[in-house]
Parts: sequence; C-alpha cells; structure tokens
Amino acid sequence: MSAEYDAIILGAGAAGMMCAAVAGARGRRVLLVDHADEPGKKILISGGGRCNFTNLHTAPDRFLSANPHFAKSALGRYTPADFLTLVERYGIAWHEKTLGQLFCDGSARQIVAMLVAECDRASVTSVLGHPASAIDHADGTFRVTVNGVEWRAPALVLATGGPSIPKLGATGFAYDVARRFGLAVVHPRPALVPLTLGPDDTLFRSLSGVSADVGVRWNKTRFREAALFTHRGLSGPAMLQISSYWQHRTPIHVDFFPDAGADWLTEAKRAQPRTTLRRALSTQLPARLAETLAERLALDGELANLPDKALRTAQAQLADWRFDPTGTEGFAKAEVTLGGIATSDLSSRTMAAAKMPGLYAIGEAVDVTGWLGGYNFQWAWASGTAAGQVI
Ligand SMILES: Cc1cc2nc3c(=O)[nH]c(=O)nc-3n(C[C@H](O)[C@H](O)[C@H](O)COP(=O)(O)OP(=O)(O)OC[C@H]3O[C@@H](n4cnc5c(N)ncnc54)[C@H](O)[C@@H]3O)c2cc1C
Repeated sequence: MSAEYDAIILGAGAAGMMCAAVAGARGRRVLLVDHADEPGKKILISGGGRCNFTNLHTAPDRFLSANPHFAKSALGRYTPADFLTLVERYGIAWHEKTLGQLFCDGSARQIVAMLVAECDRASVTSVLGHPASAIDHADGTFRVTVNGVEWRAPALVLATGGPSIPKLGATGFAYDVARRFGLAVVHPRPALVPLTLGPDDTLFRSLSGVSADVGVRWNKTRFREAALFTHRGLSGPAMLQISSYWQHRTPIHVDFFPDAGADWLTEAKRAQPRTTLRRALSTQLPARLAETLAERLALDGELANLPDKALRTAQAQLADWRFDPTGTEGFAKAEVTLGGIATSDLSSRTMAAAKMPGLYAIGEAVDVTGWLGGYNFQWAWASGTAAGQVI
C-alpha cells in the first residue's frame, strides 16, 4: 500500500463512496477512510431498511440552504435517472412508494453492496475502523494520520456527514476540519425530527401511536402527509417535513380535514342531525383522535342542537389547529442536519473550497438539506459525483 494518493476521502457514507467510485473510475488513486468498521451504515438503516435512494421529483426548491441556488448545478448534472441507471445495471429491483420516492424491493444492503462494488471496480483503497487522528496541510499536500500511518494527497474531501444519530457514529468532524481551514459553518440543527409538545397538549400525547393524513403549515410552507402522535409529541412524515422549517417559539398549524368541503360540518348536521360531533369527526379520523378533538372543542350533544355558527367555528379550528411545539427530539432522532459547511465558501460546480485549494466538502456535511423522501441521498450522489469528477 502506498502512502501517496491523488485524493483522500474522509467518510465512507453515501457521498464519500459515490465520490470515491467516480474519481477512481477516472484513474485517480483514492483512499477512503471511515472510523466505522463497515461503510454506509446510514444507508443500511435508511427507508426502514429498504433505502429510499432517490426522488423522481428532485428539484432545487426541495432543499434548504442559506443559498437556495447552490444545489442547482450538481443536482442538474447528476439526476435521479442517472442513479436509477446505476441501480438497474446492478439488477436491483425497485418500486415507487409514493410522491416520487424510489425504494429497493429487497434491502438497503443492495445499495451499499453496489457502491462497494463500484469502489472496488475503480480500485479505491479503503481504511475502515479507525478515525483520522491528525490532519495537516503544507506545500499543497494534505497529510492524514490513520491508525499510526500517515497518508498524503493533494486533495482532501470532507464526506463525514452531520451529527444526526450519533449512536451510528455520526459526528460534527467535518465542521471542525472545515473551520480549521478557514471555512464558515452555518449553525447545525436537527431536521426531519419529531417535535415535542408541552403540558398544554397532554391530551394529544395520550394518543401515542395514532396517525392521520393531515395538512401541516408553518408560515407559508405546507405539506400534506401522514402525522403520527407519539408519547412525546408529533412525528410522521408531515411533522418531520415541517420540523426542517419550524423555528423555536412559533406555532405550526394542522388541517385535520384537508379534503373536506367548505361546509362539511353543517352539511353533516343536515344529513345526520342526531349524530354527535365526536361521531361526525370519527367518520374521517381515527376514533381516539376524534374523541380528543371533540373534547377540546367542547361542543356536547347532538349536532341538531348546536348552532351553525358554532359548527362553522369548530370547522375553522379543525382546519387550522394550532400546536406550539416546545422543541424537537434532537440529533438523537433527527434524520438529517440542517446547516453545515457554508456554501458561500464552496464552488457549486465542484464542491471545492474557495479559500483552501484541494479541500472539498460533499453530502450532508454541506449546508444543503433535502426534504424527506430520497432527496438527501440524491444530494449525496450528486455532490459526490461533482467532486469525484474533478479531484
Ligand atoms: C434513520 C435514517 C433514515 C434515513 N433514510 C433516508 C432515506 O430513506 N432517504 C434519504 O434520502 N435519506 C435518508 N436519510 C438521510 C441520509 O442517510 C443522509 O442524508 C446521507 O446518509 C448523507 O450522506 P453522507 O455521505 O453525507 O453522510 P453519511 O452517510 O452519514 O456518511 C458519513 C460517514 O462518515 C463517517 N464518519 C463520521 N465521522 C467520522 C470521523 N470523525 N472520522 C471518520 N469517519 C467519520 C461515518 O461513519 C459515515 O460512514 C436517513 C437518515 C437516517 C438517520
């Protein structure tokens, strides 16, 4: 094994493996380093073990970043169709679940095996199971010490992701290295994360396990997906999506009847005057949720005995139910990290650091965060490819 490489990539996750395979295929000598003893651990647990590896509706407006234009170039040059071509070349069966989300029919292991095979084909050298203990730069060469061995290369790629799910080996390492080399870091915070509710919403916390298809809104951002009540607060795709936008001490608004007509409750009164509010709600919502909402609305008795005005007020409340989350479940439960290495210090074409020649940052380590639904992997593949084509 030679100590000299064309590029050293730190992090054998989604972005790092992609970058290594692309650079290696160009004949570059690549060293891929990870402190975990196997590559792609987050890929393995992703998508409930089936890896939601891309989204057909990938577009820059489905990514959050201090610079919303930054992701355009890489995403435009490596598309979901490109990744799908690779998946099909390996004979991996897949299906579209919903909303353009593509999953393996079998297991996420197939995606990891595919990326490992691509790295092997491209003669990438991997050093797993050891952290990089020292990183230095002098005379245009990066020196990285791993397990007592010093490796040298003119290019260093930061692909160690963000700090979400630390028990899987996730760290803020990329930020530390980036700062050391003069790059700015946009304050990292948990995203795609369950929201917690306080004592005022105890009634809802008792609904743990109940889910419903809702509309959710924070300011002008809206999602229409399933919400899940948990013993700590709110989860499920709708809440994970809105959590990436939510700011502390602001409310989110839930529409429990996103498909209902303008006067559905007064119409229900005409159609079934003897029914109660709880029963009317339970025609479209799980019984326990209907009961909790009816309890909160405190309109007792048969609909026939309730004034239309009160029913219209209740209907408006159900379409715009305010929750005041007290916080999130934090990095321990966050699928991704919002923020990261500032895009203002990187080239959107190559992911190269403007201030430090030879340094690159890709994947979740960068201040680009996708929606739930395969967007984050697509960013990892696209940014990894962008850097892999130039290192
Ligand atoms: C539970 C869960 C489910 C998810 N499901 C999906 C999904 O279905 N679809 C989707 O698009 N996204 C999903 N994501 C998000 C997706 O996994 C990440 O966005 C993606 O893995 C980021 O790729 P990356 O290569 O930048 O980082 P990672 O895949 O996290 O890879 C970073 C690598 O760096 C290594 N590393 C970290 N610190 C160091 C260090 N100090 N030294 C050496 N190595 C280090 C880690 O061990 C890891 O191998 C999910 C995330 C979670 C947590």
